[in-house]
Amino acid sequence: MRPVTEHEVRTSFINCSKGEAKRLGLPRDLPDRPWEDLDFLGWRDPGAPERAYLVAERDGSFVGIALRVTSGASRAFTSRSMCSLCLTTHTSGGVALMTARRTGEAGRQGNTVGQYLCTDLDCSLYLRGKKEAPGAGIVDESLTVEEKAARTRANLDSFLDKVANG
Ligand SMILES: [Zn+2]
Repeated sequence: MRPVTEHEVRTSFINCSKGEAKRLGLPRDLPDRPWEDLDFLGWRDPGAPERAYLVAERDGSFVGIALRVTSGASRAFTSRSMCSLCLTTHTSGGVALMTARRTGEAGRQGNTVGQYLCTDLDCSLYLRGKKEAPGAGIVDESLTVEEKAARTRANLDSFLDKVANG
């Protein structure tokens, strides 16, 4: 994806208030992220571990989503869990249930959308083999990296649609 500036990140959020977007913790290494290997920018708030964010490029502009991390540790600890975006299988809490408040009236009524996601939101790196999921078995998939990236972006698009349109 195209590198995102701090200003672009803070103005991209569709499901949190302007005040929240202004205060949220950005990744400390924002300018040095491996942009050419990223399908989206995802990170955990350095100052608030239960918060996570992702920013994706859609039709030339950036769309950001604020997420709450629900600890799924008791379940994930003994079993394998799969990320719903990149389909990487993790053990021991490598996947967490994250919920996004919906936009508009639905969000004001407390409506959220939940997805199981890689806890570190490094889906782009897992699917490219740039990062390995500890303890994960090798899933023999006959897809190319491009196909995996396209599938991940399609999964992300449908997630963003659910947050934005219900
Ligand atoms: Zn993932």
